[in-house]
Amino acid sequence: MSASLSITQQEVRRRNLSLVMHAVAGFGPLSRASVAARIGLTRAAVSTLVDELIRDGLLIELGPSRPGTVGRPGSALQLNDQGPAGLGAEIGVDHLAVCAVDLSGRVRARAAYETTNRGRAPGPVLDDLADLVRHVSAQAEGEGLRPAGLAVAVPGLVARGSSAVVRAPNLGWEAVDVPPSLSSLPLTVDNEANYGALAEMWLGGDPSLRDFVHVSAEIGIGAAVVIDGRLLRGTHGFAGELGHMPVRPEGPPCACGGRGCLERYAGEEALLRSSGVDPAQAAARHPGPGGRIAHLAERADGGDQRVRRALHEAGAALGIALAGAVNLLDPQKVVLGGGLSPLLPWLLPALERELDLRVMDPGRVGQGAVIVSRLGPDGPLLGAANSVIQACLDDPTSLRAGGRGAGAVP
Ligand SMILES: [Zn+2]
Repeated sequence: MSASLSITQQEVRRRNLSLVMHAVAGFGPLSRASVAARIGLTRAAVSTLVDELIRDGLLIELGPSRPGTVGRPGSALQLNDQGPAGLGAEIGVDHLAVCAVDLSGRVRARAAYETTNRGRAPGPVLDDLADLVRHVSAQAEGEGLRPAGLAVAVPGLVARGSSAVVRAPNLGWEAVDVPPSLSSLPLTVDNEANYGALAEMWLGGDPSLRDFVHVSAEIGIGAAVVIDGRLLRGTHGFAGELGHMPVRPEGPPCACGGRGCLERYAGEEALLRSSGVDPAQAAARHPGPGGRIAHLAERADGGDQRVRRALHEAGAALGIALAGAVNLLDPQKVVLGGGLSPLLPWLLPALERELDLRVMDPGRVGQGAVIVSRLGPDGPLLGAANSVIQACLDDPTSLRAGGRGAGAVP
């Protein structure tokens, strides 16, 4: 047998194992016969693959799926809820969070704490994160899970295919490498907006959602573009910088070197400034992640006209920027990330009006082209953890000794 033939056979086997895992993940519990029918392989071939997956601790066999039937009943297969765990971590401007999900994407352990990371040296932030990862890892092991990989979401630009944070302006980080020593697990680092978008695709509840623009806002405005189920990364990994789309060419200068960028109107700091709200006071009134947004929502709800005007302006700016993205990419939907939810009653009308005015297919806005994520502010964290699980489903052999590791993001 030639080496190339053997590599091809290994690839085919890997792909078939992945087809079985995805079938059970998407439609389980399933009998072997149902898996075979779904993926178009013979029942004998599927049985061999299933035996391998059970041996590796990825699938478990439940009792007979149809008790009382004549002949050998088919046993139902499901994902092993004591199998691999995906660890996700989030470095926020004002918090750190880590969670562990099982093969079904269920959160089995989590920990978070509030801290001010802005302007803090990266070393101590990463040390704190490493402690949190160890803690959640131990919790997951206590649940009988095997942590398989760690994915870290950061609010900044990450060089494509690396763990190098090129720039995270809201943390004050420049050229920071997230070191592999953060944990003993295979490590992936990506922009939080990318993980937010992946979470929406995997967990948002609409399996037909494959082409969309996902907008997230913590302190800055981030976005990610998913085309045909895959992230658009761009040459350097920097695609999706919607926050630096110019909405008023003569507007105020932006940290990026341009003027009148979306972030200068709809970013959290810009919103607080134009609302006349002192950020420290807002944070004191509503401590914790999302506190400043909650404070703005409370003021708008209470009838504060200055806050409502600022939100209206921000909504219009978002609509203008998104019209550019929609005309360029023709997505199924624009998804607004969960962090923005509290402000939507005041943002959305102006956003939809500008979008409707400017897109080539105006009727689409009225037909629900703009939706709000149901995942809340947890989207990026869940997306990170689930990216490890998706890598396991895509290559079930990655967990074996000498495998490629389960940290790769699709
Ligand atoms: Zn800018």
